[in-house]
Amino acid sequence: MKLKFYGTRGSAPVCDAGFQEFGGNTTCVRLASSDMQTIAILDAGTGIRNLGKDLLAMGHKQERVTIAFSHFHWDHIQGFPFFAPAYDVSQNIVILALGQGRTIRNLREIFEVQLQAQYFPVQLDHMGATFEFLHIDKASEHFTGVDHTITKVTANRHNHPGGAYGYRVEQDGKVLVFCTDIEHGDSIDQNVVELARGADLLVHEAQYTTEELKIKKGWGHSSYDQALQVAEMAGVKRLVLTHHDPDHDDVFLRRMEQLCQERFQPCVLAREGLEIEI
Ligand SMILES: [Zn+2]
Ligand SMILES: [Zn+2]
Repeated sequence: MKLKFYGTRGSAPVCDAGFQEFGGNTTCVRLASSDMQTIAILDAGTGIRNLGKDLLAMGHKQERVTIAFSHFHWDHIQGFPFFAPAYDVSQNIVILALGQGRTIRNLREIFEVQLQAQYFPVQLDHMGATFEFLHIDKASEHFTGVDHTITKVTANRHNHPGGAYGYRVEQDGKVLVFCTDIEHGDSIDQNVVELARGADLLVHEAQYTTEELKIKKGWGHSSYDQALQVAEMAGVKRLVLTHHDPDHDDVFLRRMEQLCQERFQPCVLAREGLEIEI
């Protein structure tokens, strides 16, 4: 599997000088098979705009593209109206979203509302692509590539205002775990540790320092320390920290990365454009 980060920022995009190394676009990750024949997308923050442009530039053709959502807060859906392949009438886009007893009708509604005329000039039904809305129990078959490489996808609901989901993607004996927008609370969520167990790569959010977390209780996020704890408890091989706070500039994040590496060496902070193969 190959991963590319198109958006690493949490909460709100930033374009200021001093934030360009780690990047200003909100959460979006491209997941691809090693031969790049099959891709899937995790979250549709503003980073998905560049991802869509890249797919067009590469001439990438894939009948059905899956976008899996951790949840639907703005920073995870904001780029969706600007995803160029969504305007291609020959494109089929599978929106994979989860739970909370939602019906498929409800899932469609989330995007219809985002694209309603008061907010955006083009409504969902007029974008062009065909959209399918699916629950997680269908996830595995929709991550499985055109080359029929078996991909197993499991998800875990974790604590976040309104709920959010972490994903574990297993393919060819390799394991990726993507877990963002999680507030562990007083102790580390053991279900998240189990989801991440033995992963080749864990992508975990780290929006706050331990001090910041104390005054941001209930905001739904983790500290660097908690992300490192999950990595250690789960015995993961590599760790990428993401969902950077929009107030944390490059100087700050570089310093945090250094501190994190002193404790857990195979750890980096996600930068926009970072590519990792597992
Ligand atoms: Zn977020
Ligand atoms: Zn959120």
